[in-house]
Amino acid sequence: MNYVSTRGKAAPMHFLDILLGGLMEDGGLAMPESYPRFTPEELESLRGLSYPELAFAVLSRFADDIPADDLRALINRTYTAQVYCNARDAAKTGEITPVTTLEPGLHLLELSNGPTLAFKDMAMQLLGNLFEYALDKTGQSLNILGATSGDTGSAAEYAMRGKRGVRVFMLSPDGRMSPFQRAQMYSLQDANIFNIAVRGMFDDAQDVVKAVSNDLAFKRKFAIGTVNSINWARVSAQVVYYFKAYFAVTKAAGEEVSFAVPSGNFGNICAGHIARMMGLPIRKLVLATNENDVLDEFFRTGVYRPRGTAETHATSSPSMDISKASNFERFVFDLVGRDADVVRDLWAKVDAGGAFDLSATPYFSKIAGYGFVSGSSSHADRLATIRATAERYAVTVDPHTADALKVAAEHREAGIPMVVLETALPAKFEETIQEALGRQPARPAGYEGIEALPQRVEVMDADAAAIKAFIAAHVG
Ligand SMILES: *Cc1c(COP(=O)(O)O)cnc(C)c1O
Repeated sequence: MNYVSTRGKAAPMHFLDILLGGLMEDGGLAMPESYPRFTPEELESLRGLSYPELAFAVLSRFADDIPADDLRALINRTYTAQVYCNARDAAKTGEITPVTTLEPGLHLLELSNGPTLAFKDMAMQLLGNLFEYALDKTGQSLNILGATSGDTGSAAEYAMRGKRGVRVFMLSPDGRMSPFQRAQMYSLQDANIFNIAVRGMFDDAQDVVKAVSNDLAFKRKFAIGTVNSINWARVSAQVVYYFKAYFAVTKAAGEEVSFAVPSGNFGNICAGHIARMMGLPIRKLVLATNENDVLDEFFRTGVYRPRGTAETHATSSPSMDISKASNFERFVFDLVGRDADVVRDLWAKVDAGGAFDLSATPYFSKIAGYGFVSGSSSHADRLATIRATAERYAVTVDPHTADALKVAAEHREAGIPMVVLETALPAKFEETIQEALGRQPARPAGYEGIEALPQRVEVMDADAAAIKAFIAAHVG
């Protein structure tokens, strides 16, 4: 499988070549040259496979430069009940990503029973094992530098802990995360994990990461890398659970299913788009945003207008608080018929701080053909949905999943199952659950009292020079 750039000016590469990198050399994102397709017969032959078997069936099409036995071993080591069945019914049944039926035709796909109780574990754990495998082969090492306001940082740390050749330097805003989130990250005692609490806000931490990454000499000398959501391996690993859910809610070939996805950087729903392009009979991809509705605006109007920091709201579904959607370029590449010249023109506007408008182009009318519809949800909607879901189905959902449930309800069709992706557990968002339900969410076994564990964190100023010195001192 060759990977090409959405901007068309980079040499084609293979899966392992793009694994450790970020953007392609022309500033675009990596995309498979063509989508591997499953015929309806091939698709049916996957019905009944276990999660690791299904993951191999899908990922072996994308990572064909990894010997099949190696890939199978990596996948089998990653997708285990021990890692992915920490909560809800999965803790009893040992099933990875089970589907819970709320009522006939409405289902929750549980993606958040992994170590950090959010769906980012689904792909990040595989990334940890892939990194270790790739670094082992070349004898190189990698120092991952990131900034987090919550889910990404903890998922990355739990995926990379103890991995040979990998260190993680994760910046977080000092005192701004919830006590639970702080405990999750800072209680890790692994020697290759470094938590740095930066005095300031998330944006200050993010700015330090940018400043360090822009120092190319430093970046090269210390092999600085990232685990951000444009990483192709992450996106491809997320394709798998769309197949898993499809088989869980259908009985026979050709039946259609719709998915509703709480979206931020467009990584999760991009995987749904890819599953559809591979032949999975997906009817609708329902994109849900919170008050940060840059993507809902695009799918309704054809205008893509990334926001500035001042226009980006801090909401009660914080993992969807984005100003621009970093994976969105992948979908637009397909939408414009894979014409990289068009993508380059559009992103010349975006990268200059502007917007683009497809409403008067033939591309706009093609969106429906890709199954996309959208909607947005507010704080009041979120609380009402959490309350209604608890009352009707006796299920507590987290604020992000609530956004998707709210928008899913606007797009249900008779006879078509709607699967809502559960991207985090309510235990991570106690304040909002308390506000909605007047009580605290249940904590899965093993997570009680984690706030009392000893913590390992360095508090530092948001100063790039100081952070560089810290990294240099800890890279032996
Ligand atoms: C990251 C995240 C999202 C958004 O996912 P994208 O792939 O960025 O669209 C939604 N919900 C939760 C809980 C998340 O952690």
